[in-house]
Amino acid sequence: AAATAPSLLDGLDPDQRAAAGVEGGPLLIVAGPGTGKTRTLTHRIAHLVAERGVDPARCLAITFTRRAAAELTDRLGTLAPRQAQDITVTTFHALGVRILREQHDRAGLTARFGIADAARQLAVATEVTGSETEARALLADRARHPDHAERYLKELRQRDLVDFDDLVTLPVTLLESDPELAASYRDRYRWVSVDEYQDVDEQQYRLLRLLVPPEGNLTAIGDPDQAIYRFRGADVGFFLRFRQDYPAARTVRLGRNYRSNPHILDGALRVVEPATLVPGRQLHPMGSCGDARVGLHEAATEQAEGTFVAHTIERLLGGASFHAFDSGRVDGDGTQGLGFSDFAVLYRTDRQARAVMDALTQAGLPFQKRSHDRLRDRPGVEAILAELAFVPERGATATSVRARLRRAAEAVLERGLADPDAVHTAAGLLTPLAEDCGDDLERFRTELSLGVEVDTWDPRADRVSLLTLHASKGLEFPVVFLVGCSDGLLPLRWPGTEPDGEQVAEERRLLFVGMTRAQRHLFLSHAAERTVRGSVRRVSRSPFLDALDGTRCERVGDPAPRRRPRETQLRLL
Ligand code: ATP
Ligand code: MG
Repeated sequence: AAATAPSLLDGLDPDQRAAAGVEGGPLLIVAGPGTGKTRTLTHRIAHLVAERGVDPARCLAITFTRRAAAELTDRLGTLAPRQAQDITVTTFHALGVRILREQHDRAGLTARFGIADAARQLAVATEVTGSETEARALLADRARHPDHAERYLKELRQRDLVDFDDLVTLPVTLLESDPELAASYRDRYRWVSVDEYQDVDEQQYRLLRLLVPPEGNLTAIGDPDQAIYRFRGADVGFFLRFRQDYPAARTVRLGRNYRSNPHILDGALRVVEPATLVPGRQLHPMGSCGDARVGLHEAATEQAEGTFVAHTIERLLGGASFHAFDSGRVDGDGTQGLGFSDFAVLYRTDRQARAVMDALTQAGLPFQKRSHDRLRDRPGVEAILAELAFVPERGATATSVRARLRRAAEAVLERGLADPDAVHTAAGLLTPLAEDCGDDLERFRTELSLGVEVDTWDPRADRVSLLTLHASKGLEFPVVFLVGCSDGLLPLRWPGTEPDGEQVAEERRLLFVGMTRAQRHLFLSHAAERTVRGSVRRVSRSPFLDALDGTRCERVGDPAPRRRPRETQLRLL
């Protein structure tokens, strides 16, 4: 065959290449987990700007979290180093902030407007309604209190503030009421792409409709079976009707999974099957991820479950194949050369992390824990922020945000404004953000208002990752433990309520998302006894696991604690 010039599409399979090479117009890429959707998007943008002469300043890529945006920026920097810095990679909320800063006078704000945190919102709402109870009712559902809502927004504007929910809504209002303005943004962003499109909400959808005309260059990427944010207003319906909204759309499906071993992939597909929004989906495992079966473990208690995780990590770090614990045989299933960062422990609710953290601490295994909660809602963060406002006035010589942050965190601790544990954690969460923002305190504040915990997750840290299922979206790990696979947690049941059919379906998809993070090893565990609201109860395992059969899974016990080989011991020092 004649040699062809190397291209940025070379690292893609034929279907991915077809998707990445589409010249223009609306494009829908719908594919399951691990099929290279994000990778295809990255190569597509790089190809457009570096090989097709598309102006990088006209490219807008929207991702679900700041962390995902940072990763995409990174990859683009490698693939298209000359153009990457001119491409806008952002989240919906950060895009909203950008539009509002540019159009601040139309919104009745200064260019330096602030974003109200929860305490500020409550204070303003209380002033408007006259009582804290009514204020909370207003903030929970503004549509039900139109008069108060209007006054509340006015009061915020007067203080040069917007609240978090406004960040997308206000730009939508601005662009809807001013067609010329909307046209100018359409002209600026001629190439728009959205990853994780299955989780857009109505306001985000409206913003997109304003930014891209029906025949425009919009690439939407997603997997309806990974729609897990309904509780925050996301609506998978927008994904499902993409081809009605953009009748000229081309649809590309990707069917090769490069992430997970065949047992893991098949198990995950069986689990999601009763709730699937993509009936008849076929996913072909391509990976060289071994063929370890899915491990099922029943522990006596949550503490024992944590110990199972810690011991198993120790064994795998020692290079043993999990299936050969007893014989001590080491086979070629890829467990050799694993480091701490290759392990993730996933769970439904943040509080389940406690037992795992205790066990990892006891075993001397380092970890980083992140949820998908908003940073500004974290205990301690508000106190640090308030303190941060005073630090420069006290004549701090260091100008970097990081130095100020450290001082602020210390001051908060000294003054006993937060319990040492929570502050400590808050400062730890904020430090990576502060490093990113350099000397720009304003930017730091904005990022902090917009961010979620997992934004500060560090993929390069030599630590085990502890993540809620929601926070694990888009990520992958060689070894995944999914703890708390019990009835009541998956599906999650709130006291005194029964989840409706849609909720149960979403919980099932959540388990699907978690299982498909695993590359080589997946362990699903549950504790036979759990403390539920103060009393110890027997709980059965998650009914979702009934979909798994013996050919894909095997029961595994708790391996005995293992003396680590010297090399691992040294790494722990
Ligand atoms: P998710 O639905 O979980 O977001 P995804 O479809 O976005 O998954 P990616 O994260 O892009 O999948 O890719 C999954 C893994 O497969 C990555 O490690 C990626 O590098 C790898 N991969 C994707 N396509 C290929 C390919 N053509 N050749 C080799 N590896 C690939
Ligand atoms: Mg992805």
